Amino acid sequence: MPVSNERLYMDYNASAPLGSLARQAMVAAMDLDANPSSVHDDGRKARAVVEKARSQIGKLFDSQAKQVVFTSGATEAANFALTPDWTMGRALVRFSKLYVASSAHPCLLSGGRFTGDDIVQVPVTGDGMVDLPALERTVGDHDTDSGLPLVAMPAACNETGVLQPLREIAALVRAHRGTLVVDAVQMAGRMAIGLSEPVGDYFIVSAHKLGGPRGIGALIALSDIMMPLPLVRGGGQEKGHRAGTENTVGIAGFGAAVEAALADLARDRWAAIATMRDRFETGLRALCPSVTIYGEHVPRLPNTSFFSLPGIKAETAQIALDLDGIAVSAGSACSSGKVGPSHVLEAMGVEKVDGALRVSLVPGAGPADIDRILASLERLLKRSLSAHAA
Ligand code: PLP
Repeated sequence: MPVSNERLYMDYNASAPLGSLARQAMVAAMDLDANPSSVHDDGRKARAVVEKARSQIGKLFDSQAKQVVFTSGATEAANFALTPDWTMGRALVRFSKLYVASSAHPCLLSGGRFTGDDIVQVPVTGDGMVDLPALERTVGDHDTDSGLPLVAMPAACNETGVLQPLREIAALVRAHRGTLVVDAVQMAGRMAIGLSEPVGDYFIVSAHKLGGPRGIGALIALSDIMMPLPLVRGGGQEKGHRAGTENTVGIAGFGAAVEAALADLARDRWAAIATMRDRFETGLRALCPSVTIYGEHVPRLPNTSFFSLPGIKAETAQIALDLDGIAVSAGSACSSGKVGPSHVLEAMGVEKVDGALRVSLVPGAGPADIDRILASLERLLKRSLSAHAA
């Protein structure tokens, strides 16, 4: 297959391309020259845009959201939610420990406003699923005299795409009087967050993972009885939960992106992506039977494939694909371009691999795109074979 000059972006989990409806909504919001807190007509127009987006985003949660607090992204939402100090009306509620999955994104793992000694990592199995008996033991041993347990879990891992059993986790956390904060960044807008049974109490979402702009996110509460103490203090915006003039343009794009993502979900667009991911993995195994595909046997995001090719450094593979015009990741892209050992693989007990490559397909990826990635990997494998033979 000839090498195409056109760029092929397959790094959706790092950041989704901006959707056209989100772009339109943002361009329209740029013409609103007012502060959404101003009471004049111009201010009220800006306010209407913010509130429309708030209700669009609430729909991700079957309109059960009681609070949607806008933040500068998921990282800020995590730092807001992960705090020992919460309020219930005028009363203070104290969480004495944070329990967090060892495969979680660094914005959860770093524990927000908890201090190091009060952050307990919960192990994951070799497949990347939270070790439920270990979670049961750890949260079961929690001493509620000093405060309640706060639990933070990813809905889906940004590297492997592995989905956590949120229903079981939520039931276990409730049984031990805990509160569950779910990082829904990689799941929201790609899979229904079924709420027929409890799957969490607070949810973190980020616009740029579902076709909205970068730098805007939210903390969503399914009950407004209890809220974390504000992280960003100042004016009374966001009902006092997050000070600072709202990012009207970002919020407008976020709302429109959610609306578009939910329409795509209703059209089952992600089922087609799963077919493409399976085509990719079948082709990959045919090229390299000894490939390791992480989380292959457990439920995963339909667009994500995270794998190691024996004898080939993930960085080398990433560069080779990039030179062929294909953007993928070697692990996660959250640390200023740094490619280090994946803490997710470490958490899964994976040893002695030269990193792993993540292909995260964008909606609309077709067979020709998959074949182009496979052709590039095939050339790389052949070069590696001949280098070893020389
Ligand atoms: N949580 C997960 C699972 C992520 O993948 C990311 C970003 O990669 C974040 C949180 C952080 O999101 P943001 O870039 O909005 O701070």
